[in-house]
This record gives sequence, structure tokens and C-alpha cells, in this order.
Amino acid sequence: MRTIRFFWVSALACGLTALPAAAEDDVERLVAAMLGDTPIIDDLRELTDDIGGRPTGSDANRKAVAWAVEKLRQAEVSVTTEDFEMPFQWQEKLAFASISGDVSFDPHVVAKPFSTAADARVARLVDGGSGSADDFKRVGDAVKGAWVLIETPELNDDIGLAGLFGLYGNARQFEARANAAEALGVVQMSPYPKNLVYRQFASTNYENDMPLLVMDREHALRALRLMRSGRSLSLGATISIDAGYSYSATNVIAEIPGTSRADEIVLFGAHLDSFDLGTGALDNGVNVAMLINLARQITRLGLKPERTIRFALWNGEEQALVGSWKYTEQHEDELDDHVVAASFDIGSGRTTGFFTGGRPALVPLVDKYLEPVAGLGPFQQIDVPLVGTDNFDFMIEGVPNLIAIQSDANYASNYHAESDTFEKVDQYQVRLNSAIAAAVVWGFANDSDRLPRQTHDEVEDLVDSTNLEQQMKDFSVWDGWADGTRGQHD
Ligand SMILES: [Zn+2]
Repeated sequence: MRTIRFFWVSALACGLTALPAAAEDDVERLVAAMLGDTPIIDDLRELTDDIGGRPTGSDANRKAVAWAVEKLRQAEVSVTTEDFEMPFQWQEKLAFASISGDVSFDPHVVAKPFSTAADARVARLVDGGSGSADDFKRVGDAVKGAWVLIETPELNDDIGLAGLFGLYGNARQFEARANAAEALGVVQMSPYPKNLVYRQFASTNYENDMPLLVMDREHALRALRLMRSGRSLSLGATISIDAGYSYSATNVIAEIPGTSRADEIVLFGAHLDSFDLGTGALDNGVNVAMLINLARQITRLGLKPERTIRFALWNGEEQALVGSWKYTEQHEDELDDHVVAASFDIGSGRTTGFFTGGRPALVPLVDKYLEPVAGLGPFQQIDVPLVGTDNFDFMIEGVPNLIAIQSDANYASNYHAESDTFEKVDQYQVRLNSAIAAAVVWGFANDSDRLPRQTHDEVEDLVDSTNLEQQMKDFSVWDGWADGTRGQHD
């Protein structure tokens, strides 16, 4: 590994007026340490290359938990593990498909997480267009008992995250339409070119009761062209899965105890689990390595925050955000004292600010905490609530929450795909992002200001006055909020 050295750390030290003098000195040392020579990239290489893809419930996931605990122990950071129950095991054992009829070929397929099994199920393949209501009307009864192939727009770095969110929204609609029309199963065209497939989870999560596949783009386009020029095709698919039982998974929780306000908690988290096709480097090994390194450097420098800093390496994130949800249950008595819960989950693109979750009073605080790293900006906070990662249960519990906003870079084009591997990570930017995270952690940990936890009514107002309901439905977490199993109870 080529070591990148930084010569301009002192240039960042301008504008240090926001915090008490001692804290100013500390944040300067911490930021300098994060920009310097650290094991962060070696850690990421171990997590991604040695351990690899680590879906919750897999052996690799358990190895990743043990690895993270060991890394933190070696750094002399206080660390514990917290087990929680995952409601439903789902691992693909194998998936393959072949197209036959007027033309025969073998596409590359994977099962969507929470797909049901299929045992050599051969049926007519129908052209479901883009899966709109009109498309299903056009195909009519032909969908019944058939595999329906849905075309998706190509997703590249220019479209980025917006394209990804759009795909989740569309999938919820076309999976429901296919279900209502009694299709045998849904085959979704991969949005990525060059035979790249990925795991986009079933829109109804654990409730799904259909076989769901993603087919590589080139073969799906060929099948659509053939069907659109009058050829008749069938699809045979086998999906073998290990599925259906509950099991125990583990969050890793590291802590730097506070001095004068130890009962107040500043929580920074990233999810340790990934899907299995790639090695979960952008999503989200890079941010796990970043938080481990942040805990390591605070401890190494002997820095003493006023509030307790807690680093959470979540599990079960990719399977309905279960680990962070269970944490909010297990730590219910402490939630009033959670000053903030921040999530990092958008790869290694430049951190440009934070989503502040519909809490406008958070914006000036975060602005202030970013001043020591103004040289790495500009930064802009965006005050909207966002669903899709581990801030979610904190948001509906009323805890002030953040998600780091990162430039899309190559995140969306490798999302949950075989190509999400170590070399996609921007090693230079990761260090800058860690310095930014360090400044924000230190700001929250030492400021005298803080926001109160919102009441249930205030959270309900937030849901009613934003597009949260739509987002929660697209991420299959609406029911938990609506039926009161998730979120704050009055
Ligand atoms: Zn993620």
C-alpha cells in the first residue's frame, strides 16, 4: 500500500473559535491524527478481502463481529457485543435460470433477498415493460402463472443515488402488481451493464411470498427484443435458499467514557453487515474501518471527551435495519440521554455535510462542529428526514439524528453488486472523511448545547409534514411504525 502523507494539516486549524480552548486543542490533534498515517486502509483490506461479503446470519458475518471486537481490543478501546434476534434467516444457496422456446440461452441471475425458493419452475416469460399499471393492463391475463420480466433504466454514476431510490420505489409497485395478477414470479432487469447483477431486497421484505430474480442487463435486453419481435420464450429457474428461521445476530459497541457528563451519549454508527455478491467495501466496510480508526485515535491520543462517545457497528442493516432498531429497544432507558445518533453509509465519496433529519436546530450545531475542518469543505447541511440506513429508528424515537451526505462518486454503480470491492474505495478521500467525522464527533462530545429528544407527537408531526410515509413504505418499515412495534410509545 502506498502511504499518503498530508502536509497541510495546519491549514485546517483556522477558525477554531467554536469550542473551549482545551477542546479546540483536542480536536486539532484528533483531526491531524485522522489525516496522518493510520491502519485504516489495512483494516478495510482485512474486512473486505480476508472476510469478504458478510450478510447477517452467515459465517462471514460472525467472523466480522469477532474481527471488529479484536481490532478495538488491540486499540485498547472498551468494547462489548450486544446480541439481538433476527426474525428471518435468508441466504441464497444457488440460483440459475435458462431461457428456452423459440431461442435458448442462459442468463446470469441472482435471487432478490427474501425471494421464495423455486425448484426448476418453467413457465412462459412475458414482457412486463417497466412494470407500470399500463404495462400490466397491456399484458392482461398472460401474466397469470408466468414469469414477468421488468425493464429498468440503466443506473450509472451520473444518476447515482436518485436512481437507486427510484428503483426501490418502482419495485414496490411492480412486485405488488405482479402479485395481484398472480404471476409465478418477477424477473427484474439489472440496472447495471456488463452482466453485473446485484441484490435489491424484496419490497415486502420478510412478507414476500414470490420467487424474485435479478437478471443481467444484456440477457434481459435480448429476451425483451426477442419477445417484442414476436418470439415466444419460457424461463426455467431454480432458486435454492436457506431461509425461514429466527436467529441471533450481534452489534459491536465501543465506548470512550465521558468525563463530566458521562451519562450523555454521542452515538456514531456504521453497519458491519453487507450482502454477499461483492465484499461490502463501499457499503459499508469503509465507514466501519473509519469508525474503528476514530475510536483508536481518540484512545491513542488519550483524549477525554466530556460526554460519552459510543461507536456502534450495526448488524442486520441490510435486512430491515434490525440491529439499530433492537439497540433502541435494548437502550430505551438511555434514549433521552442520546444527544445524537449519526450514520455513515454512502461509500467513500467526499463528505459534503449532513442530513439533519427535519430538526432545523441541528444545522447551526453541525455547522459549528465542522469549523475546525473548514479547509475540507465546503459543507452544507440538508434538513430533511431520510429513511434507508441506521438513523431510522433513532428518528422515529425522537433522537436527533444525522446521516453523512457524501458525493455519490461510485457508490450507486456498485451498490450490492459483485463489483463492491476494496479497490473501489477512494483511499485519499476516506482519510479526509475521517477527519470530518472526527471534528463532528468531538463537537457533539464537548459542546454545552444539545437538542432535546422529540415526543411521539412531534415525531408524528414530522411524519405528517414530510414524505416520510412514502420513504418508510419504500423501505418496508412503515408497518412497524404504523402498528407501534417501532418508534417511541407514549
Ligand atoms: Zn449500507
